[in-house]
Amino acid sequence: MKSFTTLDLQYAHRFYGFKGEAQYLHGHTGILTIEVEDTVNAGVNMVFPCNEIKKTAWEVLKNFDHALILREDDPLLPAILGVYESQGIKNGAPTNMMKGSAFKTDLATAYPECRLVVTKETMTVEGMIKIVYDLLKDKLNIVKLTFTSGVNGATEEYGPQKERARCPLCGIALNNGACPKCGYKA
Ligand SMILES: [Zn+2]
Ligand SMILES: [Zn+2]
Repeated sequence: MKSFTTLDLQYAHRFYGFKGEAQYLHGHTGILTIEVEDTVNAGVNMVFPCNEIKKTAWEVLKNFDHALILREDDPLLPAILGVYESQGIKNGAPTNMMKGSAFKTDLATAYPECRLVVTKETMTVEGMIKIVYDLLKDKLNIVKLTFTSGVNGATEEYGPQKERARCPLCGIALNNGACPKCGYKA
């Protein structure tokens, strides 16, 4: 069976080199749906607690929320970093609290201190799905990702992964046979 959760991300971006309106900097509220598949865990009668899917995903994905997402070759990148630098906010600000763990993959690098994500490819809805799968595939048994942003949407399905051992008391994945939340040992 599948469990799914949704989360929303507010971000600014542009399609550098694109010939439509989207070549100008603009913003969106993007909605990401993450579906995970596994057996129903008998102890808690769920595949995976939805709030835990959200928590796991949010830990990295909050880097995209209230963030600027630019392609690595976009000339706006050095220009904006120059402004942040002169304002003294490039390396962080006391009011920039909602920071995720910094990450670097082949597709994207997050700079939480200045709420910036630099991508290898243009950050379309399809591009976002590739980035998200890469970031979360080892943490969750993802079988489907859907991302919508305004009137644009994309979806991708993935083959099922092996069954994960989960805590019969709180449903989250066991780490070396022990529950990181309640201390249960298999
Ligand atoms: Zn857009
Ligand atoms: Zn537990």
